[in-house]
Amino acid sequence: MKLFDAHCHLQDDALFPDLGNVMLRAAAAGVEKIAVCLDFSKPLKKEDEFFQGLEKSEAIYSMIGIHPWFVGCRAGAVTPPESAIMDRGCNWRERFQRLEKLLLDFPMVGIGETGLDFQEKFTNRAEQEASFAAHLDLACELNRPIAVHCVKAWGRLIEILREHPAPRVLLHAFGGAPELIPELIELNCWFSFCGNVTNPNAKRVRASAAAVPAARLLIETDSPDFPPAGCELPNEPANLIHVARAVAELRGVSVEAFAEATFLNAIQVFGAI
Ligand SMILES: [Zn+2]
Repeated sequence: MKLFDAHCHLQDDALFPDLGNVMLRAAAAGVEKIAVCLDFSKPLKKEDEFFQGLEKSEAIYSMIGIHPWFVGCRAGAVTPPESAIMDRGCNWRERFQRLEKLLLDFPMVGIGETGLDFQEKFTNRAEQEASFAAHLDLACELNRPIAVHCVKAWGRLIEILREHPAPRVLLHAFGGAPELIPELIELNCWFSFCGNVTNPNAKRVRASAAAVPAARLLIETDSPDFPPAGCELPNEPANLIHVARAVAELRGVSVEAFAEATFLNAIQVFGAI
């Protein structure tokens, strides 16, 4: 059985120092492909060991974008580490100008993560929307997949996707209601589920995971966060099997058939490498 982790962050300090072992455990657990959403927290230089590794790896699909949490200084935000302030804390426009070049210079398959997070603690909605629209336009122009984060912003997300259509939109850690699914499919969306689907109390997520048409379904770990029930932090791609088992059970299919179908769906979204 082979699995495709459609969204995670291997560059995160919680995983990066032990990346070799993280990758070995992923391979041992059947996770053959991993989509990694990079940000600007690591130096993005070709000579950097991490990027040299990416270029050689047949397991990793890398993407890059500006997360909605980091489009601008946020009220109540934890101060990022000193070295990251310039690159992650402020001025998404300056970073965005570097995106297109990075996409072309590095072996990046796609864009993200971008999106909208309208939890009350984030007061920069206009900047988030402008950044999201810019990422979508670039995905359309370059015909690349795009990974999208959406929390409490489904109405605006749909409006912006209509105004800025993109060819392949991956809604990561999908937490929207089942009723939204048909409209989002028309907007070229795929739906990716993570560890929270293993929680029996996550009723809405579980209802959506059961309702998404099989051809639009993906699974992810969103490592290093959101470990499935029974797993510890940091989360890692090897834990993907728990997500696969939970969603397969909800849908009444075998985990083997489910793994194969979601693997092929992910190849459709990201392309073959
Ligand atoms: Zn993420």
